[in-house]
Amino acid sequence: MVNNGYKHFLNVKFINLKNTNTILPQPGQKTITVSGKILKRLEELYNVEKIKKPNLSFALFVSESALIEIERRRILKEAQLISLISLTEDTIILKDVRKKNRLVEVQIRNKNLKCITEEKFDCIHVGFALALPEVRKALNS
Ligand SMILES: [Zn+2]
Repeated sequence: MVNNGYKHFLNVKFINLKNTNTILPQPGQKTITVSGKILKRLEELYNVEKIKKPNLSFALFVSESALIEIERRRILKEAQLISLISLTEDTIILKDVRKKNRLVEVQIRNKNLKCITEEKFDCIHVGFALALPEVRKALNS
């Protein structure tokens, strides 16, 4: 058999095709296509992030970023319905439009925030209170 350049090329192509097959989505996975300007921008951002986290894969970077962004938008949307009524050393009173303008109390105890109204440590009211400069200052002091 003649071992010419053409045959070598064919082999390489075959191997590449085989490798492509091995990265097809497994059950519980989904493949998406990103292209053009968005792909270029994502790759730029990924390369910056990869300096801090060398083991970070592009797929993980993109999927985590998407989840963070969706969550951030949800929080911003919810936070528009909340306003600050009063603030003391350890108590923050908020008004929540969704709760029929009911007042919501968030307390600072041992540098932790708790929504007294909902008995929660991680609700939107705690998140809103954490974003207040006065509260951040109190927590850092
Ligand atoms: Zn709450």
